[in-house]
This record gives sequence, C-alpha cells and structure tokens, in this order.
Amino acid sequence: MSQQYDVIIIGAGVAGLYCARHLPQHLKVLILCKAQPWECNTFYAQGGITIPKDKQDEALHIQDTLSAGGGVNNRECVEILSQHSNVILQELIQSGFILDRDDKGQLLYVKEGGHSCSRIVHSGGDATGRNLHTHLIGKLQATLWKNAEVVDLLIEEDRCYGVCVQSKFGLQNLYAHQVVIASGGVGGLFKYHTNAYTISSDLHGIILEHNLALQDMEMLQFHPTAYVSNPQARKYLISEAVRGEGGVVVDEDNKRFLFAYDERGELAPRDIVARGIMDYCSTQKKSAFLDVSAFSEVDFKTRFPNIYRDLSTNKLSLPKQKIPISPAFHYSMGGILVDSQGLVKGMSNLYAVGECACNGLHGANRLASNSLLEGLVFGKRVAEYIAGHSIQNPIRHFPLCEEVLQKEGDVRLKNVLREIMWDKVGIIRSQSGLDSALGGVEVMLESNIGRMLRLRLLVAKKIIESAKARKESKGAHYRLD
Ligand SMILES: Cc1cc2nc3c(=O)[nH]c(=O)nc-3n(C[C@H](O)[C@H](O)[C@H](O)COP(=O)(O)OP(=O)(O)OC[C@H]3O[C@@H](n4cnc5c(N)ncnc54)[C@H](O)[C@@H]3O)c2cc1C
Repeated sequence: MSQQYDVIIIGAGVAGLYCARHLPQHLKVLILCKAQPWECNTFYAQGGITIPKDKQDEALHIQDTLSAGGGVNNRECVEILSQHSNVILQELIQSGFILDRDDKGQLLYVKEGGHSCSRIVHSGGDATGRNLHTHLIGKLQATLWKNAEVVDLLIEEDRCYGVCVQSKFGLQNLYAHQVVIASGGVGGLFKYHTNAYTISSDLHGIILEHNLALQDMEMLQFHPTAYVSNPQARKYLISEAVRGEGGVVVDEDNKRFLFAYDERGELAPRDIVARGIMDYCSTQKKSAFLDVSAFSEVDFKTRFPNIYRDLSTNKLSLPKQKIPISPAFHYSMGGILVDSQGLVKGMSNLYAVGECACNGLHGANRLASNSLLEGLVFGKRVAEYIAGHSIQNPIRHFPLCEEVLQKEGDVRLKNVLREIMWDKVGIIRSQSGLDSALGGVEVMLESNIGRMLRLRLLVAKKIIESAKARKESKGAHYRLD
C-alpha cells in the first residue's frame, strides 16, 4: 500500500511541531516519530528559551552567540534567530503557552552561562521543554504516527520522494512532495549523554549514505553538570539555570575550583566549565559536586520542581546535600548541511531543521538556551518556504529497504561504540585517541551488523574524521595535542 502526502516531517520535537503548525492547513501533512511523542530532547529541556528583551538586547544577544560560537557562526542565521525571537514569543503567548511571571505579571528572565544579561524565559520553573512540547502537541492539526522509525529516504538525483518507515504496519514506503527532517541530534553515540533514547543519529547516517553532506560534526557540546549515578543511558541534566541562580561547583572539600580555568567561574561557556571539571577531577584525583545550599528548600523546590523531585527519588536531600556531577554529551552543533532556509545542500525538496541541521548558527559552540528558539524560528521558516514553493513530484515507486534492520550482537556493539566515543572522541581529544577510535569503528563496520547500527557507525566515523581534520582546538572541539 503506498500513501501520498504533501509534506512528511520526520520528528515530533519543537522543530518538527512548529514547522507543522505553520504549514498551510490545506496541505496533507504527516509527522513521524520513532517512539512515544514525548521521547525527544525538547521534552527534557529544562532551562528555557532565549528571548532578547529589546532591539538593544538583540544586538547583545547576537554578540553573545557569536562569541560562544568562536566567531565561526553564520552571522545571517544568528541575526535571523535573534530578530525573530520576539515574534515567536508573542505567537506562543497568544496561543496560550504559559510562561513564568512575577507577582505583577511581568515575564521572569534568568541568565545562563555565556549570556551577558538575564534574557531566558521559562515555564513551570524547570519544565520549559515539557510544557512547550505538551502545548505544541495539544495544538497539532496534522496526523502524527508514533512508533514509526524512518529507515531510509527515497532519493533520486536532487529530489526526495518520501521515506521508508518501520511501524505497526510493517515496513512501507510513504510518498511526499516535500520532506522535512527534524530528527534531533546524536546523543545515543555516547556512553554518558543527557538525550532522549530516540536520539541516535539515524537520519544523519542516511544522509551520508545518499552522499549528502554533514557539516561541523566535530563540534559537540558536553554539558558540565549531569547527575550520572543513575543506571539509565540518559543521564540526568542539572540545568545551567541552577548555576545561573547561585549553584556552585565544588570538590569534596567544598573548594570552588573553576575560577582557575576562567574568570567567569561557573558562568563561563559550558565547554570551558566541562573541561575544567574533567581536568580538575583527573589531575587532582577529586570528585565534583554541585552545591545548591545557597537556596532555601522552598525556593529550590519552587524554581526547580523537576530536579528536586527527580533527585529526591535518587535519595538526595536538596538543597542540603551536594549533588555528585560529571560532564555528559549534550548537544550537536554540527549536522545535516542546510542553507539559511533549511534546504538540504544539493536537494530541491528536502529540508532539515532543529538539532539535526547545521546552518552554521551555533558555530563552534552553542550559547545556552538558543536551541529551543532555533527549532521555533527555523521550523516556522521552513514551513513558510514550503508554503511559497509548491512542488509536485512525478509518480515514482521505490523498492522497500532490504537490509536487515537489527541483528543479534548489535546491542553489545552499540555499547562498545558508546565507550569508544566517550573515551576517545569526547571532551578532550588527541590524535592517537582519534586514530584508535577510527580503527575500532572501521572494524565494527566490517562485521555482521544490522542497518540501524551501521547508520550510527557511519556517523561516528564522520565525527572522528572531522575531529582528526581539525588540528587546532576551537570552541567545543578541544585537542590535547
Ligand atoms: C536534558 C536537556 C535539556 C535541555 N535544555 C534546553 C534548554 O533549556 N533550552 C534550550 O534551548 N535547549 C535545551 N536543550 C536542547 C534542546 O532541547 C534540543 O536541542 C531541541 O529540543 C531539539 O529539538 P528538535 O526538534 O530538533 O529535536 P528533538 O526534540 O530531539 O526531537 C527529535 C524527534 O525526532 C524523532 N526521530 C529521531 N530519529 C527518528 C527516526 N529514525 N524515525 C522517526 N523519528 C525519529 C524523535 O522520535 C523525536 O520525535 C536541552 C536538551 C536536553 C537533552
């Protein structure tokens, strides 16, 4: 059975949902997501959404974004992001999205690392992502299929004709005149990460298979403060906002050590904080903790209800007890190479948006809380572009993907890959580490593996090759040698 849509969107995070919201209503739109809709990074976002307060602050926000990105950002995209933020804020408020306000009804803004002032709005304290996702899903008009895993794109020359998807209906091809990839980042490649379990770079791998480009894949951001003592692959993130509002990083002797790495201490950009913690702990043989004792219990619970609840479940008594922390993989600045409209390079009707895409906005490092805004601004932008560029694909029929998706032994190799990526392609890199990682990945690629693992390995290989090619340290890419 083949089905024809006007637009298929792969991914139901902020980027995919906001794109869907802005597509013309007469279009037949289908959104696919790999598991339950809430299993995405958007849902887990805590801190908030960057919204510059006025025109003057827009200029400062642009400056802060460029400076976090090491000056190699695409300035046009940075300007688009900042200059569209207030329209997005108004749209969200008008459509009923509730943001935190003070007693007088004024929006509450907080500051995070790398921002020169408080300009991050939030919802439900630390539940911004959860509330935003619930809000967007609640307003969704398009059809959404959950537990629908895209395993291939149907591409011929510069046209995408649809997707091959595995769902409760089995494996089938779905056809569309335009296809939007909004499949998130690459968290599943790393042993320690903060991402939803659905985020495993499948579409990045498919892009490579079709000889399309990934860009800046060595630029991976590690969050400095994750609670890693839980058994799940997804490590629990302690939002930047906790540090922004008074949480400090200490060792077991309560010594604050981050000022030795940057004069901004805990509020330096996250790669500097993450490296500082890794370096201090390994050279001094110490452990790192987040001390939140500056908060009263009521204040902490009110401002960070989810962190309070989730860590209490892990038997931590906050704010009295220090939280054991470690850096963990968090965000991918690199991704599928697109132009400022979101069009995939070399394609005429295939788009990528959100964390899966690379339009150069983040440069070598992302400024905190710029990515929900990116999904909103550029999701809408892709929708508007599609609305203005009607494309009708001629009828084509593609064979189904024949490769076995999973094979016995894949789970074990997936874990080997995660160890390799964490140990050798993580926060601090060296030529010998990268060479050995590449060797390990190539051996696995030669073995008897299923398609989905092969796609991950192709992306891992690309990340390692990009890291090898960039000899100097830049932004989040740090080379010991
Ligand atoms: C713990 C955490 C906290 C964060 N806090 C903040 C914050 O406070 N502010 C901020 O700006 N950013 C924050 N971020 C980053 C931000 O949440 C993400 O960058 C952003 O939400 C990504 O949105 P997205 O729509 O691109 O992807 P996601 O929200 O990750 O959605 C990806 C979608 O793609 C689907 N998918 C993936 N592969 C397939 C496939 N093969 N087939 C079908 N579907 C597929 C998934 O099922 C999912 O629906 C945080 C991230 C994390 C992990």
